[in-house]
Amino acid sequence: MGLEKLHPFDAGKWGKVIGFLKARKQGACFVVSEEKLLSDSMLVEAREASEEDLLVVHTRRYLNELKWSFAVATITEIPPVIFLPNFLVQRKVLRPLRTQTGGTIMAGKLAMERGWAINVGGGFHHCSSDRGGGFCAYADITLAIKVPERFLFERVEGISRATIVDLDAHQGNGHERDFMGDSRVYILDVYNRHIYPGDGFAKQAIRRKVELEWGTEDDEYLTKVERNLERALREHPPDVLVYNAGTDILEGDRLGGLSISPQGIVKRDELVFRVVRSQQVPILMVTSGGYQKRTARIIADSILNLYNLGLIGPEPSDVSAQNSDTPLLPPEVP
Ligand SMILES: [Zn+2]
Repeated sequence: MGLEKLHPFDAGKWGKVIGFLKARKQGACFVVSEEKLLSDSMLVEAREASEEDLLVVHTRRYLNELKWSFAVATITEIPPVIFLPNFLVQRKVLRPLRTQTGGTIMAGKLAMERGWAINVGGGFHHCSSDRGGGFCAYADITLAIKVPERFLFERVEGISRATIVDLDAHQGNGHERDFMGDSRVYILDVYNRHIYPGDGFAKQAIRRKVELEWGTEDDEYLTKVERNLERALREHPPDVLVYNAGTDILEGDRLGGLSISPQGIVKRDELVFRVVRSQQVPILMVTSGGYQKRTARIIADSILNLYNLGLIGPEPSDVSAQNSDTPLLPPEVP
C-alpha cells in the first residue's frame, strides 16, 4: 500500500533474503551443495499465529488494544496507520506480523526436532505480554519458548531450560520483562548502552549483560560475544537456545550506532552456531532489526556461510514435514 515507504524499514527485507537464496540456487557458478539449501525439505512456509497461540503470552486487554488503529500506529511507529480503518490495519500490518510470529513458534518446534531452525523474520524483542513498542507488536520470542512449553517442558523429558542470546543492537526489553524472575530462562544481551529502549527495569532480568559504546568495531565485538556466549552456556546449559540475530549492528545503521562490518556479522552468526551446535544445543535464529538496503544480502550470505560450513543443513530426516495441516500448537496436554 506504499506504507512501507513511510518507515525507516526496508519492509521487503524478508522476501529478499529468500529471493537471494533462490537466486544463488539458480546461479550457474555456485557449487552443487548450495543448490540443496532451498530444497523443499529445508523450506517451511510460516503460518499465522492464531489468537489461541497469542493468548498463551499476551493479555486479552493487549490484543484488544491492537483493534485500535491509533495503538498500532504508535507501536509500529507508522503514524499514517492512524487514518486506516482497523480491518485494513489487521490485514496489511498485523497479519504479516502474526505470520512472522507463527514462523518463530514453528521454528522453535523444528529446532527441537532437528537441531536448528532459522525464521527469516521475527525477533520482535521490544514487545512483552501486555505492551508493544519499538516496531514490535507481538512477543514472538516469548511465544516461541512458552507456546511449546507445555509440549517441551512437560512432555519431553529433561527439557526445562532455555537461553536467549540477544545480539540485536538494542536491548531486548520485551522478553526480559516476560521472563523476569523465571530462573529457567537465561538471557544474554549485548547492546548499545546509549540507545532505545534503555529499560532499567527490564535489565534486572538479564543474567549476562554486555553494554557497548557508540561505534564498537568487529574485533572487540566478536571477542565479547564469544567470551560471554561460552560463559553463558557454562553457567546455564539450556535445552534450547533462541538467537536474536539483529543486523542493526551494521556500520552506518542510524538506529543501532555500532560499527560492525558485513563480514563481522557473518562471523558473528558463524561463531554463535559453532559454539551452540558443538554443545548439541538446539538453536532457533530470528533476524530481528536491521533494515539497510544491503541487509538482506548480508543475511543471505550469512545463511549460506552457515550451510557451507556444515553448521546448518538437512538432517538425517524423518523430520515430520510441515504442511498446512500441522498445527502450530501441539495438542493440549490434559
Ligand atoms: Zn534493534
